[in-house]
Amino acid sequence: MPPYGEFIFGHEYAGDVVARGKTVDEFQIGDRVVVEAHMGCRRCENCIRGLYTACLNYGNAKRGHRANGFTTNGGLAEYALNHVNTLYRIPDGIGYMLFYATPLIFSLLMKSYETSVWRTRSSVCVLSRTLGRKVL
Ligand SMILES: [Zn+2]
Repeated sequence: MPPYGEFIFGHEYAGDVVARGKTVDEFQIGDRVVVEAHMGCRRCENCIRGLYTACLNYGNAKRGHRANGFTTNGGLAEYALNHVNTLYRIPDGIGYMLFYATPLIFSLLMKSYETSVWRTRSSVCVLSRTLGRKVL
């Protein structure tokens, strides 16, 4: 983990997309997004098993790990860099305030919803190994 003062805190945040990488076409400039702070290295045993918050390369940006607000700039910075896989579009009609309150919970819940959901007419069952299941 970098020493204090080498990154800006804030691991729960939402905001607007103001720039994007050359290969990113999932989001447009101006899209409103909530973020998930953790981006595992995607190469260690834990990441491969889906346990990216316990990445064995935690804090090692050269190996692909990012934890915005913990090891790299987070939500209190004017700009934060996020991998596209850690962004979730905020649906129209929902204000930022809801996501400012607990974006970590919402981002994990949205990730869980997108990746492992059984749906019925009026209820949703989220199957997840992340914090998202604790929301329900
Ligand atoms: Zn990893």
